[in-house]
This record gives sequence, structure tokens and C-alpha cells, in this order.
Amino acid sequence: MRHDRIFAVVLVALVGVMTAAVAFGSDPYTGTTPGAKYVCTSCKVGADSPGKCPLCAKEMIKAGTYMCPACDTTSDKPGKCGCGRDYVKTELAGKKCGGCGYYIAKDAKSCPVCDARAKKM
Ligand SMILES: [Zn+2]
Ligand SMILES: [Zn+2]
Ligand SMILES: [Zn+2]
Repeated sequence: MRHDRIFAVVLVALVGVMTAAVAFGSDPYTGTTPGAKYVCTSCKVGADSPGKCPLCAKEMIKAGTYMCPACDTTSDKPGKCGCGRDYVKTELAGKKCGGCGYYIAKDAKSCPVCDARAKKM
């Protein structure tokens, strides 16, 4: 009896999570994904919105996209690039810098974005 009840609660929780996942899926009108993060794979910095990397001015790509480390070609799914290498999943760096608002590596001692801005001034 009690086990049936627990199972029912877990099932309801699962359905709730799945409904939320669908609700937060890709927006067909703008092509942007709500809550998506964007990363520069060369500099390991990230942001909450798409745009150019603050360090190298390269267009940042959506975190979770698969990319060939050699060709910079991207894919939504894991697999192999035309050059034979495996796509590598791009991940967002660990923490958000309070100064510039960009995401930086979790173990970074100082923020590369803030450092670069300080040097320019
Ligand atoms: Zn960059
Ligand atoms: Zn390649
Ligand atoms: Zn910063």
C-alpha cells in the first residue's frame, strides 16, 4: 500500500519536470532558447545572451552545442565531424563574475574579461 503511494508521488513529480522541460524548449519565433547560456570555446568565457566574445570578438555559441575542436564546425547532436574527429560538447564555465557579468572558469583566480578591460583603460 505505502509503496504504491510513493510511486504515484514520484510519477507526478516526473510529469511535472517533463512539462517544465517542454515549456522551456526552443522558442520557434526568435530561435533563441530561454535560459540558454553562450560560450566562447577559445577563451572559456560565457554569457547569458548571444553575442561576441569580450576577449577575442568571436561569435559565442550556445552551451551544450557540439563542436569539432579542429574545424570549429558545430552540431546539435553528438557525432563525428567531416574531418573524422569526434564533436566535443561545449560547456559553460563555472561561475559568474560580479564585475562584468560574464561566466568564467570556476578555478580562475582573476576574471580575464575584467583584466582585459583594465588593460585597455
Ligand atoms: Zn573568445
Ligand atoms: Zn573537424
Ligand atoms: Zn569580470
